[in-house]
Amino acid sequence: MRSVHWQYAGEEVFDVLIIGGGITGASLYHELCRNGWRTLLVDKGDFASGTSQSSGMMVWGGLLYLRDGDLLTVFRLSRSRDRMLEELGAWTAPASFHYIPSLKGGLPSAFIGAGLGFYWLLGAGRRQLPWYRRDFDEASLVSQHGHRGAFCYEEALLTSSDARFVLHWITPFQPPGQAAINYCEVVGCDYVRSEGVWRLTLRDRLLGGTIEARARLIVNCAGVWADAINRRQGIETPYRHALSKGVYLGLARAEEHRSPLIFDMGAHDDVMTYVPWGPVALWGPTETAIEEIGEGLTPRPADLRFLLETANRHLRRKVGPEDVVSLRCGIRALAVDRDYVATRYPLELSRRSIVHPERDLPWITAYGGKLTGSRELAGKIGRMIRRRIRPSLPRPAVDMEPSAAVAAYSFPGIEQAVVAPRWCREREFCCTLEDYLRRRTNIAQWLPREGLGHNGDKQAAVLAVAREIHGGDMAAAQESVARYDETVTARFDKLLADAV
Ligand SMILES: Cc1cc2nc3c(=O)[nH]c(=O)nc-3n(C[C@H](O)[C@H](O)[C@H](O)COP(=O)(O)OP(=O)(O)OC[C@H]3O[C@@H](n4cnc5c(N)ncnc54)[C@H](O)[C@@H]3O)c2cc1C
Repeated sequence: MRSVHWQYAGEEVFDVLIIGGGITGASLYHELCRNGWRTLLVDKGDFASGTSQSSGMMVWGGLLYLRDGDLLTVFRLSRSRDRMLEELGAWTAPASFHYIPSLKGGLPSAFIGAGLGFYWLLGAGRRQLPWYRRDFDEASLVSQHGHRGAFCYEEALLTSSDARFVLHWITPFQPPGQAAINYCEVVGCDYVRSEGVWRLTLRDRLLGGTIEARARLIVNCAGVWADAINRRQGIETPYRHALSKGVYLGLARAEEHRSPLIFDMGAHDDVMTYVPWGPVALWGPTETAIEEIGEGLTPRPADLRFLLETANRHLRRKVGPEDVVSLRCGIRALAVDRDYVATRYPLELSRRSIVHPERDLPWITAYGGKLTGSRELAGKIGRMIRRRIRPSLPRPAVDMEPSAAVAAYSFPGIEQAVVAPRWCREREFCCTLEDYLRRRTNIAQWLPREGLGHNGDKQAAVLAVAREIHGGDMAAAQESVARYDETVTARFDKLLADAV
């Protein structure tokens, strides 16, 4: 599938080329393709392998941003949440969030109650009116030091995963007309004014080799990497990204844990969330300002220690490194003015999104953004593009609901059926074992040691998957499992050992 898109990319002059296949680029790809723009989407890694695979998967109005008075962002996110619930019913589900006030030093209960009422109003009262519960099913999970009950309010969650949500915006569109290529890096990019066309050199990061692609307009949706791409092109805008690292722990989910719990931490006005997701519950996230992208790509022992310490303070069960089923780590790209000096706690920075078009070049940069709100951001960029370029294709008919025809596969230790590896290879741009275990399915997040299992007890099942991914080539499958095992030892086992 990838090769068909790859080949087509060299043949066409595209209306728009999008750099970055996270949620921002994928939503934009969908928006442009369905409106008839000839569009090419490229990602230097797998689709959704950046920040978009590490979110909390909450479709929410941004309650936390109320404290800094960012009413416009909260209003917009609430509207997006409700639109997603209305239009993407198979991908999102309403959920009752339980906000648990801190017994020491947190916000006063009256303030929380009033804040939630205001939040509900900002969401135009479309969700259930917040309510207070002294007793709730998950109370048994909360530390024995007790609680005073929970404030309940309605938000939403993604039903499958953030990575699959990203993918579903991409897969319906095929050449001719559109193309999407993962593991494809833009290594050169020149604007030929006389032709009104960008000439780009694209490198295949899996197989090597380059091709030349052409596009009339470029949209930089590269998230935390967007600033570096702009710098390389000599593009200066009034904005940049401040970076904040966020890490979650995946812990085994208790049977009674069905609603997301939000714990007031009593410091920085911060919270920790405990969100049920299949057989695990995600505890986190951290919020750490970082200077360099490299500092935020993997969790550090200090992140793990902090998360375990806070979990042990707020949860009844005691957890240690041996209880960690999985880890998620991502970098938030927060849109700030170019001259912003990093003095504030990242949570105090607005989660707004900004779209900046260059005046003299057909180049647009997307800053900030969230999963919630990604469609509105795509719509805004689409309107901006329409003012510059008319779509050159008729509007195609596409069905955005998940296909019932997805081939099912069973993996030991995962209760429900997952999508079959061959299906993913042939129809979902799945190129590597990790693409499958982490982003096409949740196996790497739901089973210990990124799907290999404790003591490698799932190794044979992983090998069977690898064989399908490699088209039956057993030697290639064995090699990829061995490499995967090495990676997991280095980034998971070693980290847990270092955190002790
Ligand atoms: C811990 C955490 C929790 C979060 N929780 C939530 C939540 O619950 N709800 C919510 O709505 N939002 C949440 N977010 C925010 C949300 O996840 C992000 O805003 C969103 O995923 C950003 O998507 P993006 O497409 O802008 O960036 P990314 O997903 O990072 O995508 C950028 C892509 O660009 C590609 N790229 C980079 N350079 C190049 C290049 N040179 N050539 C080609 N491709 C390139 C990268 O490989 C990457 O795939 C959370 C974020 C974090 C970190």
